[in-house]
Amino acid sequence: MKITILGSGTSTGVPEYKCQCDTCQDARVYGSKNYRSRTSIHVEITTSDNIKHLQFDVGPNFIDQIDRCQIDRIDAVIYTHCHADHISGTNDLVMPCRKQNMDMPIYGPTETMSILQRNFDYMFRKDTFQGGGVAHLVPNPVTGPFNLFGLNIVPIPVQHGTVDTFGYRIQNFGYIPDVKLMPSQSLELLKGVDLLIIDALSFNPGHPTHFSVQDAIAIWEKIQPKNTYLIHMMHRIDHRYFNDQCSEQGFDLPESVRLSFDGQVLQL
Ligand SMILES: [Zn+2]
Ligand SMILES: [Zn+2]
Ligand SMILES: [Zn+2]
Repeated sequence: MKITILGSGTSTGVPEYKCQCDTCQDARVYGSKNYRSRTSIHVEITTSDNIKHLQFDVGPNFIDQIDRCQIDRIDAVIYTHCHADHISGTNDLVMPCRKQNMDMPIYGPTETMSILQRNFDYMFRKDTFQGGGVAHLVPNPVTGPFNLFGLNIVPIPVQHGTVDTFGYRIQNFGYIPDVKLMPSQSLELLKGVDLLIIDALSFNPGHPTHFSVQDAIAIWEKIQPKNTYLIHMMHRIDHRYFNDQCSEQGFDLPESVRLSFDGQVLQL
């Protein structure tokens, strides 16, 4: 399995517009790991047929992300939830659909499917003129584990604000980009993963909808994956000083827990 971190940032992206903090200033330097587009990943996985390409979320940076990371195919899209930073690039699925000459199967919580059908209604109607550049989407509401290209995809329900939100597990990989509370049954579903990518917005444990770094480490402690990467970070977290930032907060960063960054490729 090959996982590409297309984007590692929170909903505002980093740099934040007009922010002059040290991290945002560094993020404006070309090549900085502190530059973070909106959170999204792409997974290439071997199935009984061939390699399948699964796109997780389609945020506002999507079309630039897949071009920059040289993603050459998308076989299906899996959405985690309906927040704008995860769905608002959906119109740009037109290019993969056009290049691949296909309609795009999409998966996600029932609520996300209906919000997509409201916001992008023209993409769900076959009568919409296709030649002019409309992608047609085929919705598949997810209510439990499902089979996709022979793969067992397990949704992991998490609490994240007021919208229905899933993380997902595929084989020994767990992906939980947006979470405030992890129900104990969901934690069970994650046990045994070797690679975990998980939300860590900042060091603030009081944020109403996101894990802090400390919350993410608490999950790492419980399930002990071989490798854990943090994602969905805001500008309070700085790649250059992250170990020191953790020490200042009064804890040591475990060796197998690291920050992800845009363009990073992980093999599993
Ligand atoms: Zn800043
Ligand atoms: Zn969200
Ligand atoms: Zn988000």
